[in-house]
Order: sequence, then C-alpha cells, then structure tokens
Amino acid sequence: YNEEDQAGLKAFDWLTKLYHHLLRHTKEGKQGYRYLLERGFSDETIDTFQLGYSPQSRDVIVQFLEKKGFHPQQMVKAGVLTANDQNQISDRFRGRVTFPIRNHLGRSVGFGGRTITDQEPKYLNSPESSLFQKGKLLYNFDVARSAIRKEGQAILFEGYMDVIAAHQAGILNGVATLGTSITEQQASLLKRYVDTVIICYDGDRAGIEASYKAAKLLRHVGCTVKIASIPDGLDPDSYIASYGAERFQHEIIEASSTYMTFLMRYIKKDFNLNLEGDRIQYIEKVIDEIAIISRPMEREHYGKELANEFDLSMDTILQEIRLRREKLG
Ligand code: ATP
Ligand code: MN
Ligand code: MN
Ligand code: MN
Repeated sequence: YNEEDQAGLKAFDWLTKLYHHLLRHTKEGKQGYRYLLERGFSDETIDTFQLGYSPQSRDVIVQFLEKKGFHPQQMVKAGVLTANDQNQISDRFRGRVTFPIRNHLGRSVGFGGRTITDQEPKYLNSPESSLFQKGKLLYNFDVARSAIRKEGQAILFEGYMDVIAAHQAGILNGVATLGTSITEQQASLLKRYVDTVIICYDGDRAGIEASYKAAKLLRHVGCTVKIASIPDGLDPDSYIASYGAERFQHEIIEASSTYMTFLMRYIKKDFNLNLEGDRIQYIEKVIDEIAIISRPMEREHYGKELANEFDLSMDTILQEIRLRREKLG
C-alpha cells in the first residue's frame, strides 16, 4: 500500500467502527438500527458484519476524521468523503445504513450504503480507487473463504443483504459482487479456492439473465456451475424471511440445477415446442451448447437427455455433436 492508500485504510477502519458504534449505541443511529431489526437481522449478525449508520448531520463524520488527524481534502481524494459543487465536504452515506466492504485480507476498503427511507438510489458504493475496485472484490470473501474451502462450494449472491441473511441462516459460504455483473477477475478468484459455484440470484427476469451471463463466465474459468432458482418476485433474503432457513437450504440451495438443465430451460423460453420448426431450432441450439462442453462424459449425459426428450436416436445426436466439434477444431 502506498501512503495515500495507508491513510485511506486507516480512515475506512475508523469509520467502520464509528458507523457501527453509532448504529448500536447512540440516538443518532437508532433509525438505522431499527431498520435492520425490522429486516430480521439479529444483534449478533449486525455485529458480525459490522453494519452501521451514518447520521444525517453534515459535520459529524468530517469532524470525527479531522479529530483523528485526517485532512478532509485528502479524504475526498481517497474516496472516503465527498465534495459538492461548492466544495462543501461531507460523508456520502449520510442517512444510510452502511456495509463495510473488506478486501481479501479483511481490511475495510469502502462501503455500501442503503437508504432507509426509499431515497434514490437505493444503494450507494464508495467510488472506485486503488483500494476499492469493484471488479476485483467479492463481498464477504475474506470470511466465507474457510467455509468455501470446507464445503467445496461457494454461493454467489446478488446483494449484501442476501449474503447476510444467508449467513444468519447458517449458510456461511456466500459472497456477492458489488452491484455489477461478475467479472473474469472475480470468477478467477473463486476458482482459485473452489471448483463448484452455486449462482443464487434474484428470482426475476434480470436475475435469470444475469445468472446466464455469470454461468458462462464461471465455466470459462473452469468452475462447475449450479444454478439455484428463487420463485419470481423474491430474492434469497426475502425468501429466507418468508420461508425460513430450513426451506432455503433444502428447496433452493440443495435443489439447484446443473448448468445444462438451467440452460435448456433458458433456451426453451424462446420457443414453442409444439411447433415443429421451433422444436428443431431448439434441438439445434441445445446441441450447439452440448458440443462445446469439454468433458466427454458430460456431453454424452446431456446428449442422452436430449435424445430421450425428443425421441431421437443417440447415434444421430452424437453425430451432430461430432460435426460441430470438428468445426470448432
Ligand atoms: P434490499 O433487500 O435491501 O432491497 P437487495 O440486495 O435485494 O437489497 P437488489 O436491488 O437486488 O438489492 O440489488 C442487489 C445489489 O445490487 C445490491 O446489494 C447492491 O450492491 C447493488 N445495487 C442495487 N441497487 C443499486 C443502485 N441503485 N446503485 C448501485 N448499486 C445497486
Ligand atoms: Mn435484483
Ligand atoms: Mn435483491
Ligand atoms: Mn433483497
């Protein structure tokens, strides 16, 4: 870390403690605390994730940092504080619940902040900096790492709230991207620790599309991918709140489907399989996908599934696969 990053790290560290203290023990933080309790989080969970609150007032955070010897202007440069057009310096998370975001070494390198009053945007993140690079960080990776190793699989969520709700439900191997699609760097980071990644995104259109993209990328770096499917309109956190930890574990995580099963369903939605033309196009598309699978055993397995579903001979399917693979070279 260079000198500026050192200062940033120290400031983020102080703020993690301050926001958390304000939330847990002060009048100013009460609204944030109440919000989290209403969302079903326990004190223990709030402490574990060091969730906090940044008060509405303009000066508290700036003055606190100044007292600790940080220059406000320097803090703006480091992405800790923000300046408006009149160069008025303040904390960007004012009035928000804060989620410290730690790097793989467990150091706070930025925050996510959620409104508790339906303000737009719903979430804010610290700005990109040499410390805080959204495309390289995975929320909760430092803590989840040992559970990921132990279980041989990681669960990839969309949001902080999902990771935290899952953790409270006893599922400790969850991580999340920071509001963007997963990058190759994040995928490679996971691959270094684990073979299997369960994608557990929100049960809406956007979640399904994002699952498809994430699955491609994770497979590209060599992961085995499974995809959990949440009922439409829910996400992992709201599913757990409605149905409890037990059902989440059994009916969502353990019931997650293999990549190809997900893919076949995903491709299917564009076709009406009652129409002959659509049926053939669908089969072609699925064979395209089977052909690019690297393991022969897997190719045969899904080839068989397709053959059975459409009453085709396995020979025909294998031949189609072979033709495509020859073209791929
Ligand atoms: P909540 O349960 O509090 O509504 P969520 O995790 O379900 O939160 P989503 O809307 O599903 O929120 O978004 C998932 C993730 O995407 C969030 O954790 C956050 O990192 C990011 N995100 C969501 N909305 C925004 C936004 N307006 N700007 C930046 N990032 C966002
Ligand atoms: Mn979503
Ligand atoms: Mn969500
Ligand atoms: Mn949610």
